[in-house]
Amino acid sequence: MSTIPLESRLRPGGYNPGMAQAVTLIPGDGIGPELAEATRRVLDASGVKFDWHVEEAGDAVLAREGTPLPQRVLDSILKNKVAIKGPITTPVGEGFRSVNVSLRQTLGLYANLRPVRSIPGLKTRYENVDLVIVRENTEDLYAGIEHKVGPDAAESIKIITRAASERIARFAFDYAVANGRRKVTAVHKANIMKLSDGLFLESCRTVAADYEGRIEFEDRIVDNMCMQLVQKPELYDVLVLPNLYGDIVSDLAAGLVGGLGVAPGANIGTEAAVFEAVHGSAPKYAGQNKANPTALMLSGVLLLRHIGEQAAAERVEAEIRAVIAEGRTVTYDLGGTAGTSDFADAIVSRLEQAATPA
Ligand code: NAD
Repeated sequence: MSTIPLESRLRPGGYNPGMAQAVTLIPGDGIGPELAEATRRVLDASGVKFDWHVEEAGDAVLAREGTPLPQRVLDSILKNKVAIKGPITTPVGEGFRSVNVSLRQTLGLYANLRPVRSIPGLKTRYENVDLVIVRENTEDLYAGIEHKVGPDAAESIKIITRAASERIARFAFDYAVANGRRKVTAVHKANIMKLSDGLFLESCRTVAADYEGRIEFEDRIVDNMCMQLVQKPELYDVLVLPNLYGDIVSDLAAGLVGGLGVAPGANIGTEAAVFEAVHGSAPKYAGQNKANPTALMLSGVLLLRHIGEQAAAERVEAEIRAVIAEGRTVTYDLGGTAGTSDFADAIVSRLEQAATPA
């Protein structure tokens, strides 16, 4: 079973051509359910047959079932091996642990892949941005080891291991090879955190040696990286980062190409893959048919590639891009007035027209 993170074929196994693809669909909360419905409709119009297994998680489930992430959700993902999820709200500073982080850690979804590409026709400050962010998804400050030290101090423990760092670096290099990319940049703060970030950097260097002559390697300190990305994003290709820097730099990179509404992602492990947008549940827009479903739809495109449905992935991506380039049916964040469902309607109708023989 391969875990090579090909954008052209991300699947870790379990797909049967010719049969309906079973996919766990987690609608999430906030804007999640509207975006999930829009995305499901577009994927259903892609020509691929899906068998959707809808599973709820998050705050509403906590009240009913005593946990925000019931075992049945994990079982469904492990059985189907592929899931797509809307964002799930995490209480700030108190309450239950992030369902998103728990999912990634429990299922060993160690690689968070976030391609960041300019969309032709979408007016932004930058053109031709084409970056891929590979974020370590299981450790670092997200290990959740925190404690109070008396009433007026608190400590969070940052975990970095050689095994997880080498694994994510290998994922980034394998992705680069498989997708014709030229360079991997490791991002860190090893000048200050000499032991933890130092180990991350050392692990990336060790792995880079195996790809010498095929993929270029360099490293950048995270603060400098942020400045470089806003000044000259075209110099960068694949970035590999520990968990927290990966989270922050992903949002920064999303801003280069039109914002969180257009930034897709995939969480990949050896046993399963969960596709989700970079953005969160944007509670202030919940239930208003207002949020942009592009990011989740493009996560659906990554899902199609992952299950080997290359042609369908290209069709869906092309129609999403066409509707955005046309500019008539886009959501508020892209300068339009269309609702979430109008945007989905426009894409579904283009996919259906393309599928109808002339
Ligand atoms: P957010 O990404 O939800 O929203 C920030 C802002 O970005 C929104 O107010 C909105 O202006 C814009 N935005 C986000 N998605 C958009 C979309 N699809 N269309 C148009 N505009 C969009 O970030 P936040 O407000 O920091 O987080 C809200 C909640 O989401 C928190 O509880 C957080 O923990 C959670 N969260 C979940 C995930 C996940 O499920 N993987 C990821 C990030 C944040």
